[in-house]
Amino acid sequence: MSSTAFTARVVSFEEARRMVEHHAASLREHGDSRVTETLDLPAARGRVLAEAIVADRDFPPFRRATRDGYGVRAADTERTPAQFEVIAEIKAGQDAGAGAFSLLRGQAVSIMTGAPLPEGADAVVMVEYTAASGNSVEIQRSVRSGENFVARGAEARAGQVLVEKGRRLDHALIAIAAAVGKSRVEVFRKPRVAVLATGDEVVEIDAVPGPAQIRNSNTYSLTAQIEEAGGEAVRLPIAADETGRLRELLEQGFKCDLLLISGGVSMGKYDLVEQVLAEMKAEFYFTGVRMQPGKPAVFGACQVSRGAVAVGPTQGQLGSADISSAAPRAGAPTPHYFFGLPGNPVSTMVTFRLFTQPMIAALAGARPEPLAFVRARLKAALRTATGLTRFLPAVISGSLGNEEVELAAWQGSGDVAALARANCYLVIPPDRERIEAEEWVSVLLR
Ligand code: AMP
Ligand code: MG
Repeated sequence: MSSTAFTARVVSFEEARRMVEHHAASLREHGDSRVTETLDLPAARGRVLAEAIVADRDFPPFRRATRDGYGVRAADTERTPAQFEVIAEIKAGQDAGAGAFSLLRGQAVSIMTGAPLPEGADAVVMVEYTAASGNSVEIQRSVRSGENFVARGAEARAGQVLVEKGRRLDHALIAIAAAVGKSRVEVFRKPRVAVLATGDEVVEIDAVPGPAQIRNSNTYSLTAQIEEAGGEAVRLPIAADETGRLRELLEQGFKCDLLLISGGVSMGKYDLVEQVLAEMKAEFYFTGVRMQPGKPAVFGACQVSRGAVAVGPTQGQLGSADISSAAPRAGAPTPHYFFGLPGNPVSTMVTFRLFTQPMIAALAGARPEPLAFVRARLKAALRTATGLTRFLPAVISGSLGNEEVELAAWQGSGDVAALARANCYLVIPPDRERIEAEEWVSVLLR
């Protein structure tokens, strides 16, 4: 065991999060040199736009009726009931463009939701307030000009940017892309995120564990979280608690855009990750966070010249020209970020959620998003020691406006089974010793 020193830097949760956000922001400045690809729209879900989505025409492209009813001149409905002559029926999809129709005084068109309002008409009377008979209709309620249709271009003008570059495509943004005819979109390539599990006791999930061994669940929860965050996981073999092999695997991991290490960052004699990283001249932004779970979390970077990186562990996948899939191209040394996430499964997940996720989003080219908390009423009073920000597995339930939350039963950060009973994390600020039942508290959805 070598004795390379590194300076411990334990920070509050807020400071840790700020540091991550700061580095995420500096990563995004390299955005323009990121590698892009063009995908079919359905395949682009979850990907980050490398181009803006622009309205190809006015939205709506015509004066669109929003009700089934009768298109009229509003002025003709001042006194009701009134009798109107029905001169045409306009279905959705029917062209009522210039010259097709023009309403004169006392005339109406029968019109369907989504159909274009003809010239002369400036309102739609809902069918519920009419009585049709033959070629005429009785209008029973007056309407104001502009009622029950959307003016051409009111939603967006042709050429207007509807979605900016850097937004992650969810179903709503996919709808916008579809509406403007973007059947293929240019997106950033996914960042590659290496996952390195450490621990003499940790075995692969298809192995039969010995009496004192446990299966490597972290690599798999992290893979899932990486994918949810917009990255691509590169799983490395498990590193034993031994400096030589650990260093070898860390070096392999640094060939990816981001390296996640699980375990080996606590205070134990065989927690060697920080020591080996220090030998590799890593810079540590923090080496611990005043939080629970996740106190031993580490965040830092190694300066690596991207051009100089050799071919990696999963050759073919990690070819030298292809090493940096999303981050800036080869050239000047760039910081290769890493997170040392504590090995306890709940700690690993929570620290990923709070710290790693924004870095992956930034590497993917996405705009930063703040952590979003929801509020819920605490079901039963709870007591904790002060000093740590806590993110405790909990269950949120209740109804709209009456959301309730209670702690899930758990045996501490190693209790992976408890996560099946929980659906969120109850957040306890570091200065709270006791929180009463019925108090509104912050909850982070899982
Ligand atoms: P460490 O952070 O290395 O001190 O590990 C803390 C706890 O997490 C220990 O009980 C480990 O056995 C457990 N642990 C470490 N790595 C993993 C892993 N990859 N999957 C599941 N549990 C793990
Ligand atoms: Mg360990």
